[in-house]
Amino acid sequence: MIRKTGIGVSPGVAIAQVVVIDNEEFDIPERHVSVDHAQGEIDRLKEAIVVSQEEILDLQRRTVERIGTEAARIFDFHLGLLDDKVLFQKFNDTITSGNVTAEYAVATVLRAYAKEFLSMPQYLAERVKDVYDIEKRLLRNLTGQSRQSLSHLDRDVAVVAHDMTPSQTAGMDREHIKGIATDAGGATSHTAIVARALGIPAVVGLNDITAAATGGEMTIIIDGTRGQVIVDPDQDTLREFEQIARQQDEFVHSLDALRKLPAITKDGHEISLFGNIEFPEEVDTVMNKGGYGIGLYRTEFLFLGADTEPSEEDHYRAYCKVIKACGDKPVIIRTLDLGADKYTQSRARNPERNPFLGCRSIRFCLRNIPIFKRQIRAILRASVHGDVQMLFPLVTNLTELRQAKSLVRDVAEDLEEEGLAHRPDLPIGIMVEVPSAALQADAFAKEVDFFSIGTNDLVQYTLAVDRGNENVASLFTAAHPAVLRLIREVIRTGLQHEVPVSLCGEIAGDPTYTLLLLGLGLRRFSCTPSAIPEIKKVVRSITIQQSLEVARQVSRFDTDQEITNYLRTVTRKIIPEVFGD
Ligand code: PEP
Ligand code: MG
Repeated sequence: MIRKTGIGVSPGVAIAQVVVIDNEEFDIPERHVSVDHAQGEIDRLKEAIVVSQEEILDLQRRTVERIGTEAARIFDFHLGLLDDKVLFQKFNDTITSGNVTAEYAVATVLRAYAKEFLSMPQYLAERVKDVYDIEKRLLRNLTGQSRQSLSHLDRDVAVVAHDMTPSQTAGMDREHIKGIATDAGGATSHTAIVARALGIPAVVGLNDITAAATGGEMTIIIDGTRGQVIVDPDQDTLREFEQIARQQDEFVHSLDALRKLPAITKDGHEISLFGNIEFPEEVDTVMNKGGYGIGLYRTEFLFLGADTEPSEEDHYRAYCKVIKACGDKPVIIRTLDLGADKYTQSRARNPERNPFLGCRSIRFCLRNIPIFKRQIRAILRASVHGDVQMLFPLVTNLTELRQAKSLVRDVAEDLEEEGLAHRPDLPIGIMVEVPSAALQADAFAKEVDFFSIGTNDLVQYTLAVDRGNENVASLFTAAHPAVLRLIREVIRTGLQHEVPVSLCGEIAGDPTYTLLLLGLGLRRFSCTPSAIPEIKKVVRSITIQQSLEVARQVSRFDTDQEITNYLRTVTRKIIPEVFGD
């Protein structure tokens, strides 16, 4: 039995059999399979070899067309290696003698092979790069197979991986995947956000869970509420966690009673609780959990889920689905926020050295006008069906906002000329998620209809802490006084200019922050759908007077630790159940 502590990012307890997904970019740990499964591993390898051969032949054909026959010869070595009977025998022997996975056999055999080349004359030593190339390709096809198999499972499993992209997480079989545990990742990484959206318990930032979770039919416990993972638990531990899972289920069910009740404080202040969504299907969860509408629709998942760019009609259909499911409730559609951790650099045409500070979000849209216009057209057309608002992400200066608004006007004129039904004057807001926007909120307030504070990025850019990096996860906190000062200023500016302010970062769904945010004057929260009942419970248990006192106390502290401890203590006193007590 091995216990590990990481960052709990999606609550709940999962107990299931492990499926480990290796990653070709990282060391492949020695992982065993049962004797009966060894042949299956050899078959998988054969399949990966065939796919790799097809890919290389295709690459070779295209190279001949573009550069010529001579250049295309470099692929002969790759093809020869894949066809090498002696090499295949080595893979075969490694798998059967040690009962290891095909991935492990490929990595060990090819690395040993590459070493042999290193001791040869210079012109042959160059071949090492080709061997590594083949290793990567084979591993990618092998791990691709295992990822693919996650989309149609016939039994319940928990996935253990180095890391997962948001679209891999989104593409998983929701019925059978009961939990996720990863080496990498932080609390607000998009993989974490998607796991929460799907209601799958998840723990990230475990560093080496992929090495710990070896063995064939192994059970794992993933406690996403406490950030704990137990590999191969003993009977007592299993019973203990089965009991915890039952208690958590009871708590979640006890919150169902709040569904139809308003989010109103004990002294009568009405609070708007919206849900964040990534996929149209999530609207039902928001409504079932008692949300008032959609406070953030992350439309980039339309792009991430497909290999090609969505057409205007794809956008339009998705938006109409969300709008219809919401009835007369508000829907805030955020324009494309592509880049950084949502779009792996390996997929990018020109990989960036520093993608979080690169051409992402609104910057990408303003440089790819046809893509941006297609989306804006679809939003304007869909808005005739409901209460729609448009939100621009990662705005850092007024020029970006003005350019984006001018594109909206252009698109509206085009639609008018084409005689297509649309709403030209829908409310437009910006995400406040970089310090420059927060500090210039007064200037922005004159040109927008609303603000939405995105604390996931605001924390990242204020504290210089990558939101998805487990090595700096302990530094990532919205309780830092500098972050809180920015949040307070944006809310204050909004009130002063009568510009509604909502907050849609992950802290909107974290009960630790609810009292403080109310005390800072926030009245609109948009959070992951599963957190809506809990936040409603906190709102209904307190008074605005109490929240003002909490905000006053917090302003006296200088460190995030003092603030977090204080917030947990006051919230726990009022409503202990929210921390699983
Ligand atoms: C944020 O940054 O807080 C936010 C809500 O946007 P995203 O998490 O999609 O970057
Ligand atoms: Mg953001």
